[in-house]
Amino acid sequence: MLIARSTQEAHLYMDLHACACGAEGFEREHRLDERDGVLVAVYEGVCPQCGRARSFTFRLTDELPPAPPAFGGPGPSRIIDPGEFLWVSDQVATDTGLRLLHTPPAERHEQREGSAFALAAVEEVLKFVPPGLDRVPGELFTSERGRELFEKSPHRFERAALLENIARKRRILDSIDT
Ligand SMILES: [Zn+2]
Repeated sequence: MLIARSTQEAHLYMDLHACACGAEGFEREHRLDERDGVLVAVYEGVCPQCGRARSFTFRLTDELPPAPPAFGGPGPSRIIDPGEFLWVSDQVATDTGLRLLHTPPAERHEQREGSAFALAAVEEVLKFVPPGLDRVPGELFTSERGRELFEKSPHRFERAALLENIARKRRILDSIDT
């Protein structure tokens, strides 16, 4: 069973798992249910491209869910791998960065959400670096997309590079807030 630390994490997981036809998004109905005495969150909908039923069931962790845009507490995700988190952070940061370049200062706050999301996603990558190690171990990459990014740019998963990435994204967020 999929274990989600937060609603944000469940949604990102679903976004990362496309329909068999390739379409990524679908409109989701959400309900809470009970399976074998465990509270689960069920998301159901229909693929807008091919009409297949889409359904995801997540068990929620006992830990208190973090405030958005954070995806979880101090422990790493059990359903999204470090490469996927860096991939999505890159996508959103690039998109937000381009918008910031073409936005007058008075409207830059409109890019706050994307900027905070990109920061939260890269903060998740750092949680996969075990104490005492200086990089994310290769065996923690479990998705195709994640492994691909790791093989292409292993240095980006070193602790120092991640800390620098986080600091850079914090500066951008601060510049939007001031
Ligand atoms: Zn489909």
